[in-house]
Amino acid sequence: MEASEEGKSGVNAGESIGTDFVPPDVRLMMERIGQSGSEVWLVGGAVRDRLMGQAPKDWDLATSLPPEQVMRLFPRVLPVGIRHGTVRIHTRLRDVEVTSYPGARLEGILADLARRDFTINALALSYPEGALLDPHDGRADLDGRLLRAVGDANARFGEDPLRVLRAFRFVSELGFRIHEDTYVAVVPGAAGLLTVAGERIREELFRILLGGHASESLSLMRDTGTLRTILPELDDGAALHTIPAIGECPPRLGVRIAAMLHGVGTGGCTGSPSGTLNLKGAVLLAEQAMERWKMSNRQIREVKTILCNPLPDEADEWSDPEVREFMVRAGADFVDDIVDLAVACGASEPGQGLPAGKGRILHRRFREQRERHFALGLGDLAVDGEDVIRLTGLERGPIVGEILRRLHRKVLEDPVLNDRKILMDFIRKEYHIEAMRETL
Ligand code: ATP
Ligand code: MG
Repeated sequence: MEASEEGKSGVNAGESIGTDFVPPDVRLMMERIGQSGSEVWLVGGAVRDRLMGQAPKDWDLATSLPPEQVMRLFPRVLPVGIRHGTVRIHTRLRDVEVTSYPGARLEGILADLARRDFTINALALSYPEGALLDPHDGRADLDGRLLRAVGDANARFGEDPLRVLRAFRFVSELGFRIHEDTYVAVVPGAAGLLTVAGERIREELFRILLGGHASESLSLMRDTGTLRTILPELDDGAALHTIPAIGECPPRLGVRIAAMLHGVGTGGCTGSPSGTLNLKGAVLLAEQAMERWKMSNRQIREVKTILCNPLPDEADEWSDPEVREFMVRAGADFVDDIVDLAVACGASEPGQGLPAGKGRILHRRFREQRERHFALGLGDLAVDGEDVIRLTGLERGPIVGEILRRLHRKVLEDPVLNDRKILMDFIRKEYHIEAMRETL
């Protein structure tokens, strides 16, 4: 198929795909900018997604109207990247990023598109006509499922090394191949990621991990030294084993980050955390990486919980109380992630992890126990510290906590015992100060 018509200015312009697919709030925004006498274009992922027949996820605009004037047009607006002339406008339904370019008419938007990262992202749709502007043959690359840098790839990665990671993000999300000229520039370009802010790396990395082609993308990152640059804690040999496991995990961020990090500090031998470092040392290294990416404390804690509680080999022989104990120890919210990670390792590393069938059984057993609403913590016991003090005659102090812990172990053995009357009788009998005196 002919990619598009050749416009008279030497750029592929003119094919109209309309703007009907643009949601009303974004159209209103474009209309208001247009009424000011400036040009306004739909750019970025929305045009790309539309041409691919997918529903756009977010909306980016480019305009010849200067940012200060864009800000005056809209009440709810934030200058997010004022250096690049980008402001974020909030509608009731979403945030839209609007980038201003200097210069008017065709030169302005052409200069804007030339600054964009890949040809498939350097497309613009005019408003209100909906005519496609495609000066870098992005449409042909979309059809060929190719990621190609706009202009000279080496120079472009040099200007902003994050583009290297964005390339892998699009590989993971779209399943595209990287064009050879661009790929060749990735290796020297990746080193520049050392200078990129952790939070920018985090945003792209998370999307890589959640993409439908995460393992393919991460394999390329490994081959090009990109993975080593952003995650030097992961040995190249270990990465070979952990990468396939990532794609086997369900697309939840916590478990996928854990899958990527579970090979850290194992010196090439994953599965058993006792490679070259003990589990604690390995988790410390993983934490160091997560802090570099400025992950939230909550996210770091979640991933650490998954990493710190690997399923023991005997998990498939657990009794019900042992299942409950594991849920208490690891946290009921994380046990399914832990099983999914073990199953993913089993699917990708022979002799490691957990067979899928056993994983399903464990998920079911966790679910059954969850439905029993057993006491996960001391606070879920049918009695509390005050009851213990009153019933035993003991003073307030650490011994009260110890008694509560013993009661908790008891109700983990048999949740039916978590009944106020039963526990109170038991406390009176076992822990009343007179009763204890008898056994001394
Ligand atoms: P998505 O649909 O997932 O949001 P996107 O391509 O729109 O993908 P954004 O991060 O929203 O990605 O960026 C919007 C557009 O801005 C991109 O399509 C690209 O044209 C341009 N862009 C973003 N980051 C860069 C960058 N680091 N260098 C050059 N151009 C960039
Ligand atoms: Mg976007």
